[in-house]
Amino acid sequence: MATMESLIGLVNRIQRACTVLGDYGDADGAAALPTLWEALPSVAVIGGQSSGKSSVLESIVGRDFLPRGSGIVTRRPLVLQLHKTEERKQEYAEFLHLPRRKFTDYALVRKEIQDETDRMTGKRKQISPVPIHLSIYSPNVVNLTLIDLPGLTKVAVEGQPDTIVEDIENMVRSYVEKPNCIILAISPANQDIATSDAIKLAREVDPTGERTFGVLTKLDLMDKGTNALDVLEGRSYRLQHPWVGIVNRSQADINKNVDMIAARRNEREYFATSPDYAHLASKMGSEYLAKLLSRHLESVIRAQIPSITSLINKTIDELESEMDHIGRPVAVDAGAQLYTILELCRAFDRIFKEHLDGGRPGGDRIYGIFDNQLPAAMRKLPFDRYLSLQNVKKVVSQADGYQPHLIAPEQGYRRLIEGALSYFRGPGEATVDAVHYVLKELVRKSIGETQELRRFPTLQAELAVAAYEALERFREDSRRTTLRLVDMESSYLTVEFFRRLPQEVEKGGNPAASTTDRYGEGHFRRIGSNVSSYIGMVSDTLKNSIPKSAVHCQVREAKRSLLDHFYTQVGKKEGKDLAKLLDEDPALMERRQQCAKRLELYRAARDEIDSVSWTR
Ligand code: GDP
Ligand code: MG
Repeated sequence: MATMESLIGLVNRIQRACTVLGDYGDADGAAALPTLWEALPSVAVIGGQSSGKSSVLESIVGRDFLPRGSGIVTRRPLVLQLHKTEERKQEYAEFLHLPRRKFTDYALVRKEIQDETDRMTGKRKQISPVPIHLSIYSPNVVNLTLIDLPGLTKVAVEGQPDTIVEDIENMVRSYVEKPNCIILAISPANQDIATSDAIKLAREVDPTGERTFGVLTKLDLMDKGTNALDVLEGRSYRLQHPWVGIVNRSQADINKNVDMIAARRNEREYFATSPDYAHLASKMGSEYLAKLLSRHLESVIRAQIPSITSLINKTIDELESEMDHIGRPVAVDAGAQLYTILELCRAFDRIFKEHLDGGRPGGDRIYGIFDNQLPAAMRKLPFDRYLSLQNVKKVVSQADGYQPHLIAPEQGYRRLIEGALSYFRGPGEATVDAVHYVLKELVRKSIGETQELRRFPTLQAELAVAAYEALERFREDSRRTTLRLVDMESSYLTVEFFRRLPQEVEKGGNPAASTTDRYGEGHFRRIGSNVSSYIGMVSDTLKNSIPKSAVHCQVREAKRSLLDHFYTQVGKKEGKDLAKLLDEDPALMERRQQCAKRLELYRAARDEIDSVSWTR
């Protein structure tokens, strides 16, 4: 049935994609969920050294591509994926470590397996648990994933580390102990089944035998007069699945280059004509084994569809939330990049405004400046010293020149007031600076609080520079305006104030007394106190107008046009420079890419499973 085939093909494709992503195993067991690869069934071949594992694999595949021979030949796991392709399509093989190179000559495939093994293990007979991944695309294979493993041994031979026996066993066990692993346990018929390494390990990891297939090789090599019927008919060792007998090519056949087609024919003939096994012929041989395995795999996959689907869904959820966390990928075209940058700036601007307008803290500190710092600074101005009797006398006399004033010291008043007013420049400038620093701090804070900006350190830096420059311009403007306010106070004095002052001459109606007092201490003290109350009045005015000027020039501008300059600059940039602004942390980019690829894989897997599982 088409759906059956597509099902295994699907699992195969998913596994292949997992492998490409390096997502086929969870080496440290740290992941919360098993990987998809682990959740999918695969078939592993186990058995003693030279029991015929690689040969069995080859006959299942129907191709001649594995290094074979005596001694330890298979020294790294080989993950072999068979993909059935459409009829008449050219057959080829492909290694994961050599993507895009299509092998059509199986002798080269065999050589590459050998070379790749040596690359990892060195020429010495070391082993390595790092698998080689090979895919075969052919119309003549069944969809299947098979794993060839190094043979189990009993002793380390010359040049091998003492631990090799144990190392191999552990490596093999790590594959077959996975509950989704179907075990192809290979035992040679010319050895007592009781000594089979394959059966020993299989029994250990699969005591009920539900995922173990017993395969008996080398039936042709049995002593004359003996047969393997006790094993093949399940009397020696019972498994849930029937035993399958196999006759592979002998070393002599291999040396003579007997091809696979001939080998299969020979095998068929062997069973058909064997007096011992003829009655079992339809259930023997590598072709039958391939079908048996493929059928079993289908039923396993069917049974597992719900749990696989649930794993896929859970993983998709996880990946999606990780994606949200990392953020969407940056667009590639300049227009979209510009849009992204403006969006990010707007996000920052929104937060910055919230700080000023309330909703986020910080704006209140500006009011604090106006309400506390500015009045306090004004109170501290040294007017007492400036309007001391001595100084008033001095300033007034200097203003009078050679001709002392007659009635009121007009020039003296002006000079005293001008001198006093210049003291207000200090608090004025200090207010401007204080507002500036609050705004700067709020910019810094807002950048930090703009989640979307986190990924883009370059943009963050550029944005900060642009905002600080703008604030600097606002500060300069505010400083000029504030100082001008102060200067304005001294350029025209409030006439009313002086007109309302009691006229000295008219006061008391005693001209003689007032005349004698004209240049006495009381006279100057009165001048001082008049100037002081005028200054007090101006101080009240400035306490109100300086904040107005700072808000107008700095706060309002920051809200209105903080990034205007930046926007113009960005608008002039070329694609390349825009990309630079959106230059992310490379580690993050890598993580997103991985995440996106896996997400794509899992989504595709879900779609495929959905479509297959509904078409029974
Ligand atoms: P592996 O070490 O388990 O992978 O075993 P191989 O597949 O490399 O086979 C080891 C040797 O046994 C090779 O020389 C094969 O030709 C030979 N061999 C394997 N199976 C059979 C068989 O069924 N009959 C005969 N005559 N020789 C076999
Ligand atoms: Mg082998």
